[in-house]
Amino acid sequence: MSLVKNVFYSAAQLLPLAVLKQRRPDSLLLPYHHLVSDAPVPHIKHLYPWKGTKAFEKDLDYLLRRFTPVTLQDIIHALKTGQALPTGSFLLTFDDGLREVKDIIAPMLLRKGAPAAFFLNSAFLDNKSLFYKFKLSLIIESILTTHHSKATLDQLYAYLQTDEASLIPAIKKITYNTKRQADEIGRILGISFAQYLEKEKPFLMLDEVDTLVQQGFAIGGHSIDHPYYSQLILDEQLFQTRQSVDFLVQHFNLPYRAFAFPHTDAGVSKIFFNTLLEGPDPIDVIFGTGNQKKDFNPKILHRFNCERPTVSINAAVKGILLLNKIQQVTNKDQIRR
Ligand SMILES: [Zn+2]
Repeated sequence: MSLVKNVFYSAAQLLPLAVLKQRRPDSLLLPYHHLVSDAPVPHIKHLYPWKGTKAFEKDLDYLLRRFTPVTLQDIIHALKTGQALPTGSFLLTFDDGLREVKDIIAPMLLRKGAPAAFFLNSAFLDNKSLFYKFKLSLIIESILTTHHSKATLDQLYAYLQTDEASLIPAIKKITYNTKRQADEIGRILGISFAQYLEKEKPFLMLDEVDTLVQQGFAIGGHSIDHPYYSQLILDEQLFQTRQSVDFLVQHFNLPYRAFAFPHTDAGVSKIFFNTLLEGPDPIDVIFGTGNQKKDFNPKILHRFNCERPTVSINAAVKGILLLNKIQQVTNKDQIRR
């Protein structure tokens, strides 16, 4: 994290929470996470850091002591009726449908009485395919920990048109549109992604999602296979969104329709939102990643990243509330599209 951000978080946590909370009684705190784990997770290790069980439990206790937990259905009800949510509400959300949700997160949330929503990719559920970013993490892990012959490495350098020094940055540059390269590199290095899926089962199975729904947790779409929306044309954006939501609504007979953006909602047009929120079979609520900012339609809500192990929950919450306050004062608390 940058020095400026570090200083900001350090300063923010010294402020009393009441000062930050009071001016926005309508504010709904929306922290998002992917996983919680004490074990190494090779398919995520080289993408982003996460918190262990002790740190997450502490976060959860902090939130439950100071804020009021609400469900996804509570939020949708409030949006439909115009009724306000309790002051200082929060909803936890977790993206990508990782197996740690049923192994670690859901059991802890049930024990503490905290509701949550899980946003799932239809292509990954049941471990049908591996997210290309996870392939990149496994490739980097293999390069760093496995001895590969000079011939293999030379083949890899030639394929990526790179050298030893720039190999890892070249792998990190692979994006959704060039994701086939990950499969070719996997073939060169002798990594079987199919075997990894089969053995490690990184994602939730459909029957496990069913159990989560029976336990009272909410679910929503998170696109088919996690593209960057700004790299897709409108029709593809709509297709990715509708498919992932419709699949869950039909399979689990859900009485609500929710969606959370993969990566970021930056650069997505008003037409996209209007089509989905106001058109036929409308989506009830869409979650972006705009750090709690407001959007042009109240059914678009913005979350903030709360899983950085270097930022305490106190600093993360106060940091985001302080940031919102500064944005409000400077008229920058609204996302423009
Ligand atoms: Zn995601």
